[in-house]
This record gives sequence, C-alpha cells and structure tokens, in this order.
Amino acid sequence: MNIVIAIDGYSGTGKSSTAKQVASRLGYTYIDSGAMYRAVTYFFLKNKVDFNKEKYLDESLRKCSIAFEGSSILLNGVNVDHEIRTMEVNENVSAVSAISEVRSKLVEQQRKMGEERSVVMDGRDIGTVVFPEADLKIFMTADVDIRAERRRRELEKKGIHESIQTIRKNLEERDLLDSTREDSPLTKASDAKEIDTSHLTLNQQIDKIVALAESIIYAS
Ligand code: C5P
Repeated sequence: MNIVIAIDGYSGTGKSSTAKQVASRLGYTYIDSGAMYRAVTYFFLKNKVDFNKEKYLDESLRKCSIAFEGSSILLNGVNVDHEIRTMEVNENVSAVSAISEVRSKLVEQQRKMGEERSVVMDGRDIGTVVFPEADLKIFMTADVDIRAERRRRELEKKGIHESIQTIRKNLEERDLLDSTREDSPLTKASDAKEIDTSHLTLNQQIDKIVALAESIIYAS
C-alpha cells in the first residue's frame, strides 16, 4: 500500500529540509512541489512570457516540461536546481502559482507521482487539494524573524548574499499572496497536525514527523 505524507506550511519553516530527511528515513520518495512552481516561474521569466496575458498561457505551458531526477529538478531535460532559487524567482513565484492553469497542470503531475509510490510531498496545498486523503498531514509554522534568518543562512551557503530585511519582506509577501489567492490558498487542513518549528532543531522536527508517520504505518 502506498503511503502519502503531506507537509504544508509557510515559507521558510524548514518544510523542504525536513520532508527530504523524513522521506529518506522512511525509504519514501521526496517530492518538492515548490520546486515545480519555481521551475515554471523560471521558464516564464527566461522566455519573457507575460504570464498575466492568459491568451498565451496554455501554449507556453505546453512547452514547459518538468521532471525530477533523484532530488534534482529538470526543466525540459535541463537541471535548474540553482536557477530556481534566485531572488527574481522568489519575487515572482507566488504570482505564477496563483494562476489556475499552472496549478492544474502541476497538481495533476503531483497526484500521478503519489499514486505510483509512497511519497513525502511538501508545499502549500498538499493536504488540502492535492491529497485530501493523505495518510498523514503536517502543517509547519515558525516565527517570521527566525524563518528569515534561517533562509539568509541557507542562501549564504549557496553564495547568494541578501539582507535579512529583503528576505523577511519576501517571506511575508509570499505568505500573504499564498494565503489569499482564490485557487487553493495556503491553509491548514482541519485534520493536519501543526508543528511550530521556531525552537526546534532540524533533527527534532524530523523525529517528530517520523514518529507520527510510524504510528500510522504500523497501525495500517
Ligand atoms: O516551497 P517553496 O517556498 O519553494 O515554494 C515556492 C512558492 O511556490 C510558494 O511561495 C508558493 O507560491 C508556491 N507553491 C504553491 N503550492 C505548492 C508549493 C509551492 O503555490 N504546493
């Protein structure tokens, strides 16, 4: 039986790092749904697609193929792991992910991936829209200052230097856009378990979720 673990929450709460390790500990496939929205955003920016002009969207989206190779993301067969993490993508991704045509294309692909094997998928609408019947739903939160500092350090490691103010502003703007969009807004599923990661280490977050997952796996 395939198990689906959905991890949603605000930007910079450590969803991706946590989900990746949870998947590895359980032997499941990790799917970073945010990377898919980032890849579409990068594709639009690179090809100067005016994503506000709906007329051309379907045609552009047909030319945009997204796949995973291990933990790397491929856009039309090319690895774009680095390109999708720039501030330019950060600043546009919430507008792109509010577009229904983009969401329906990616949600369909995400559902297919979850049907084929046991997965840990992180994002904003995984427990509410993509897999409303997920076996375990987690909703991660954390203080915004702590999130901004974590994100600053993460970017620094990749050689990207941004001020804490710029990063914090971007996190707040994305949270607001993600929570207020019409299609699949970021919201906690009523049956999700909320974890505030402000004062937890990465290992503590992972341990908590793995323990919850194991209690469900062994009960089934
Ligand atoms: O998770 P990450 O911060 O990389 O996601 C980038 C953006 O992609 C989010 O701010 C949100 O706008 C969008 N997203 C989404 N639905 C998901 C995953 C990400 O709308 N399931």
